[in-house]
Amino acid sequence: MGKAKLPVNGGSGYYEIRLESIGGLGANLCGKMLGELGVKYLGLNSSSFSSYGSEKTGTPVKGFIRYCDKDREIRVHSPVISPNLLVVFHQALLKDESVLEGCGENTEIIIGLDGGGDNIMGRIPTGIKACYVVNAQQIAMETHSRINVVMLGAMAKVMGFAELEDVNQICEDTLGKKYPDALQGNLEGIRRGYEEIRELAGSVSEYSPGPEGKACKGHKSGEDASGWGYGTAPIGGINPNFGSSVVSDLSPSRQGYIPVFIKERCINCGLCDSTCPDMVFQFAPGKYKDREMMVNKGLDYYHCKGCLRCVEVCPVNALVRGLEAEHPHKEYFLPNQDLVRTPDYYVETGADGYITSESFLTEKRMGGGEV
Ligand code: SF4
Ligand code: SF4
Repeated sequence: MGKAKLPVNGGSGYYEIRLESIGGLGANLCGKMLGELGVKYLGLNSSSFSSYGSEKTGTPVKGFIRYCDKDREIRVHSPVISPNLLVVFHQALLKDESVLEGCGENTEIIIGLDGGGDNIMGRIPTGIKACYVVNAQQIAMETHSRINVVMLGAMAKVMGFAELEDVNQICEDTLGKKYPDALQGNLEGIRRGYEEIRELAGSVSEYSPGPEGKACKGHKSGEDASGWGYGTAPIGGINPNFGSSVVSDLSPSRQGYIPVFIKERCINCGLCDSTCPDMVFQFAPGKYKDREMMVNKGLDYYHCKGCLRCVEVCPVNALVRGLEAEHPHKEYFLPNQDLVRTPDYYVETGADGYITSESFLTEKRMGGGEV
């Protein structure tokens, strides 16, 4: 057991890690392994806990890990707000800016890519210490491991105070007995994560500007460490996170795959529509083989969480599994016009927007009209 030298910075005296992930990628287990790693092999005190919802594949999962020297007690048990290390398991999560909450000059960020090149789907805040990427999904597929172990290896490299052997050991302790057949693949995933992580070329700021050339709001170092809060939330307290009914965009919950629609093959049987849990398919009256019928016009990918059940049921392979990164411009992407997608969608109608509203009736009464 070694005694790790922690690169803690001033204030808290802890080295803090936040994992941003989605259900199915193994972030919860990864957090537990990191916690045990600190105590068993790094000679540190550590704490680890996760927050997650229904644990369904695709739902948001966060992990919080704190390290400190052995002679100190960890008295803080709240979520990590300003991490030393932020680990984004899949780059699609960057679409939700709150994932980057609290990043500052001491924060290093690791982003898991999915093998579709170095294009980052979201924005990276300015003023952070460094940003790294690793092709986590591709490595996981090639080594028959999971994204969590690849990220674990990558984290060890960036943290700098955990040796690769220590991480291998904790992996063996955790998975060796339970899944002995998968151990070798997982160790290989850790090794490749450790060796293949790379710092983003050029300065981080090259990747930072949004569409208007501005850095991410609320994530500049020092200025506003807390990011989202009552002062920065949209008027009305609307939840801007992905998956909320207002934004109606489940795309960050996908793990890299989407159903690709090959319309020429479609026989409009409707099986995909009855299987899909999220109303993705857009059927409308049309013609198929000269007959009037409901036809499959396309998919509303905002609502697709990438479970690929539709691919399994399609009898003619009109839906096939595709890597999302290889289909940036989705053919047959047909947003469902009946559903609210962005707050801009709302039309300001005033108090008498509804014909039956009290204010409308009052106005009519005042105007002498009949109610
Ligand atoms: S299941 Fe396949 S063939 Fe049937 S409507 Fe859906 S895409 Fe078309
Ligand atoms: S993968 Fe298919 S079944 Fe799953 S949410 Fe997307 S469209 Fe629906």
